[in-house]
Amino acid sequence: MNLKLFGTNGIRGIPNEDLTTDFSMNVGKAISTFFYTEKIAIARDTRISGDMILTSVVSGVNSTGTDMVYLGILPTPALQYYCKIHKIPGIMITASHNPPQYNGIKAIDEDGTEIDEEKEAKIEDIIFNKKFRTVPWEIVGQFYEDNTAVNLYVNNILKRIDYKKIQDKKLKVAIDTGNGASYFTSPLLLSRLNCRIVTLNANPDGKFSSRNSEPKPENLGDLINLMRSGNFDIGVAHDGDADRCVFIDENGDYIDGDKSLALIAKYTINENDTVVTPISSSDALNDICLEKEAKLVITRVGAPIVARAMIENHATIGGEENGGVIYGKHQYCRDGAMTMGLMLNLLSRENKKLSELLGEIPDYKMVKTSVKRNKEWAEIKDIITDKFGKNKMNFLDGIKIYEDGGWVLIRPSGTEKIIRIFSESKNQEIAEELNKKYYNFLNNL
Ligand code: MG
Repeated sequence: MNLKLFGTNGIRGIPNEDLTTDFSMNVGKAISTFFYTEKIAIARDTRISGDMILTSVVSGVNSTGTDMVYLGILPTPALQYYCKIHKIPGIMITASHNPPQYNGIKAIDEDGTEIDEEKEAKIEDIIFNKKFRTVPWEIVGQFYEDNTAVNLYVNNILKRIDYKKIQDKKLKVAIDTGNGASYFTSPLLLSRLNCRIVTLNANPDGKFSSRNSEPKPENLGDLINLMRSGNFDIGVAHDGDADRCVFIDENGDYIDGDKSLALIAKYTINENDTVVTPISSSDALNDICLEKEAKLVITRVGAPIVARAMIENHATIGGEENGGVIYGKHQYCRDGAMTMGLMLNLLSRENKKLSELLGEIPDYKMVKTSVKRNKEWAEIKDIITDKFGKNKMNFLDGIKIYEDGGWVLIRPSGTEKIIRIFSESKNQEIAEELNKKYYNFLNNL
């Protein structure tokens, strides 16, 4: 591991390789030293190394004199909601959608949001310089369990939607929880909503034997086949820690995260509301905001950045193209079950099929590729600016270049030595041509 421990989504690694018990214990010590608080909540996803990492973190936290409250196997947003309500920090043991050999540690602030970069740097400093707090034996922290988090979480989602209307509709839902942390919470929410449900991979399996944990179309073949063979209103899938949610329509067609975000926004926001999304998002959301006379705030890429901009702007909805929707009235973090609730809410209110509702969303085509990065980003940025400077550009995050009929976003990846190229147009051919043009240019550098 390098000196920067926290990546875009907490600390990640392979247990017993870089994510050792000693290291995990020190992360626990550092987080509780930083917060210097009476108690911290902890939860884990279904990964096979979850107990090992969790108990190491607990030892570290207890050694600083802080109590540890174990909430069980939970979606990350369920832990975050518990933290928000109880106003205590939290630690989530998860590697989200990464392959099963990975695990990770994520720190949650007392308001339920992910800690910001400044706090991450302070925690890293405590780890590297071993500035851990220690206490005499008689005041070491205690470990205890609290089993109220599931109901607290599910009940609040029910309060945020018109649950009676959804109950009346008796929607038929197929849900694939991918053996992950939502195996209990999301089916529970659906049954409280009187949905007729068929579950797939709703057994906790820390090896993710059934499917890759990322809810991409290529990993959701079973759910798509089930949707095509059955008579369902909607299909739902989560990633490993269920902060994300993607949908399949009644015909078995996968819905891009951009489209579901635009659809949810269309039926959730009112005039003068604020919506927040990163610069990588589809123009569809912009069109919806114009139609609804809502304000759209554009940020750099990253869910915590979107969440913070939502707090600053008192925004109603925020989100990214990967199925991570944030609903401000519930909490300022990506939340898979809340996203599902909002979608069922609009589906029960509008007497239309999901595919019909999607047909009313502006249809943009996005093409995503990536190319190896052989030079420093600053140098590449200068080359692009020199070469394509006659076009309108935006430098908020990477370079967004506006061309006739579409745009291209070129960004260096935060975790790999690659450059991501996103292009969008209303015309598929233009989107592909634009992507190819910049792909070839960058590939030849
Ligand atoms: Mg996740």
